[in-house]
Amino acid sequence: MKTIRLFIPLIALLAGMICYSSEESYSVTSSPEEATVVSSTTASVNWKVDVVPYGIPRKNFETAVSEAISAWTVHATITGYEAVVTITTIDFSKNGLDPRWYAVAKDGTSIFLNSRYRWGLFTGYKAGYVDAKRVLMHEWGHMFRLNHAPLGVKAIMAPDYRRDIWTLQAWDIAAIKEVWK
Ligand SMILES: [Zn+2]
Repeated sequence: MKTIRLFIPLIALLAGMICYSSEESYSVTSSPEEATVVSSTTASVNWKVDVVPYGIPRKNFETAVSEAISAWTVHATITGYEAVVTITTIDFSKNGLDPRWYAVAKDGTSIFLNSRYRWGLFTGYKAGYVDAKRVLMHEWGHMFRLNHAPLGVKAIMAPDYRRDIWTLQAWDIAAIKEVWK
């Protein structure tokens, strides 16, 4: 297990980071009133959304989660998710996570989004906002055992959030097929 923290200073400065971590331990705090349990199954993956990012309707966010999973599962048969994967939003700075990260996938059981950022659902670029769906696609890529794409490669699995990518790219599709062949 390893922690991947690749920094491209200029891009990071402009766009922030989406990162992957697997070994830190920390507690998750969430608002009980928001912690509804809505379980869904997409392909062979069972998941639920706990705390939705502020400003996104739950229904829209859950659709984005489902579509982020399907983006991968149309290219490969992914199995082994008997446990329910929880997607939730927390303040990274209060939970031992790097406050610069947009999101993190952890231990095959959780995806955390950083409540410090303003989240939306959109393609392309929207000033001041991070697109939740492409970040979810990236984190689900990690859940499905993909590492980051090499620096400079155009991919959802690139280590940095890119304004010009919001769908899987050739590198991503080749990678998921390689991991789950
Ligand atoms: Zn990552």
